[in-house]
Amino acid sequence: MGEASVEEMVEQEDIMALQSRYQSLDAKRRVALDKLLDIKGSIRVFSRIRPFKSAENWRNSLPISVETDKIKVKSLGSKKEFIVDRGFDQNSTQEDVYKEVQPIIKSAFDGHNVCVLAYGQTGTGKTYTMEGVRGNPGIVLRAMEELFREITQEKCEKYTLTMSMLEVYMGSLKDLLALKQHPLRMDPATKSISIMARTSGTVEIEGLTDAEIMNFKQATSLYNKGRRARVTSSTNVNETSSRSHCLTRIIVRDGEKGKVVSKIWLVDLGGSERLLKTGALGQTLDEGKSINLSLSALGDVIAALKQKKHHVPYRNSKLTQLLRDSLGEGSRVVMIVHTSPSEDDLLETICTLTFAKRVRSIESNRELSEETKKIRQKRIAELDHITKEAEKELQILKVQIEKAESSIREKNQAQFADGSPRSPLVLEHVEFAEISQHAEKIMKKLGPKVKPHSMAPTESSKQRQSATGESIQKLRNSKFGHKKNLNFLGSHSLSVTGPFNLKSKSVDQGARRGSHSTNGPTVRNILPQHRRRTSIC
Ligand code: ADP
Ligand code: MG
Repeated sequence: MGEASVEEMVEQEDIMALQSRYQSLDAKRRVALDKLLDIKGSIRVFSRIRPFKSAENWRNSLPISVETDKIKVKSLGSKKEFIVDRGFDQNSTQEDVYKEVQPIIKSAFDGHNVCVLAYGQTGTGKTYTMEGVRGNPGIVLRAMEELFREITQEKCEKYTLTMSMLEVYMGSLKDLLALKQHPLRMDPATKSISIMARTSGTVEIEGLTDAEIMNFKQATSLYNKGRRARVTSSTNVNETSSRSHCLTRIIVRDGEKGKVVSKIWLVDLGGSERLLKTGALGQTLDEGKSINLSLSALGDVIAALKQKKHHVPYRNSKLTQLLRDSLGEGSRVVMIVHTSPSEDDLLETICTLTFAKRVRSIESNRELSEETKKIRQKRIAELDHITKEAEKELQILKVQIEKAESSIREKNQAQFADGSPRSPLVLEHVEFAEISQHAEKIMKKLGPKVKPHSMAPTESSKQRQSATGESIQKLRNSKFGHKKNLNFLGSHSLSVTGPFNLKSKSVDQGARRGSHSTNGPTVRNILPQHRRRTSIC
């Protein structure tokens, strides 16, 4: 028999070993990431201060100073300190902020619902953080890019993403992806949006557009469409002050089963300013009141969750009803509170930070000792290291698997191109073909009642199989020095199982076409041989 086919089988075994390593490493990464996020806390509060604008009273000594985990505010001769999970100063970049949010976004693939909320007075940078500006995108676009990167590189293509955008304006819901003409006019279709809380704890929004997004470019253009539709009107505080909450939802589904894996909510909240300061009247005053009510309901819900209270008042606003299944147990929540550096906004800044303190409640009731903080930081650094190292190794393994797969593919193609019967399967194919032709002739002679007996292996094929077995075992022993007893011999039926499913779409389609039980990528290489055999029998 040809040496090349034995090599191929050993390569298949190599791939399986690599896949098995990939699986166990991915499980290790997942556990480390989970622990990491658990230690950091499932509801976290970040703070970001925006840089001075040219029109503002610029001061050398700021009334606010930002440290990694605290904000100090000087006001009327007294100093106030607010503890946060992470403080971002004026020089912080979009990358800096996203880096902290990134592990949470990634955890969506592990089944965690995610909620990132931008809170703060109008003009403090909420939209900048979430949407970003041209050439410097914010969290939403970075998160989408990450999700597509994860799907195509790290995870498998079985996941599908859908996107929705809605606005909570004066207590009513608007589907931002369904408004076709004028963004200020209420599309009749949006009136039928309703929030359904299931007994299982999940929330469904009926009537909301849930568009499948196939790639990052398409997602960006859909997101831009939704952004344009958002209602804005001007107040004294900011020319394009947002008078509504803008929510972007991405649902990760298991494409094969269609089951929801997780939901990601990215929320640009309406301005939290006190109504006195805006000088708002009429409609704008009502908008402000409505925003304040829902923000305070959000604060109540998060504080109740943090304090692990039995009753969580989700029902008090549309905003909290929508986010219900993405704030509670098993979810990862980040609230980024935004502040202005200006002395003129000091009272608003204190209000914002007081809100942050309330939301952070439990930990602030019992601040950690320096010793405990050190231990905690050390553990976080360790877990962070494990996660990053595992991610690096997973990348390398993936490249190795792809190389091995493509090498086998090339060999298979070369083999089919010259038609030379190199593998035992191909030899057998030729023999079966000969037997078939021979049997057909006999059948024609004997008539339709007599059936051919070509399914039973011939003596020579039995001998060949046993010879193949010996050579494979020899090669295995020389290459691995051990044992793994993969059953390539005696049977050519292919049943490859296991959850590993890198780039599995084509594999699954292939597997569905042939009726093989398969979950793994290696089948892609084996199938052509198998098909040839089945076509004969
Ligand atoms: P909000 O959404 O809270 O009302 P914006 O995001 O619209 O505030 O920010 C107000 C202005 O400040 C915008 O011109 C924005 O580009 C700018 N800005 C906000 N934060 C930053 C930042 N971190 N770096 C640079 N410019 C910022
Ligand atoms: Mg805004």
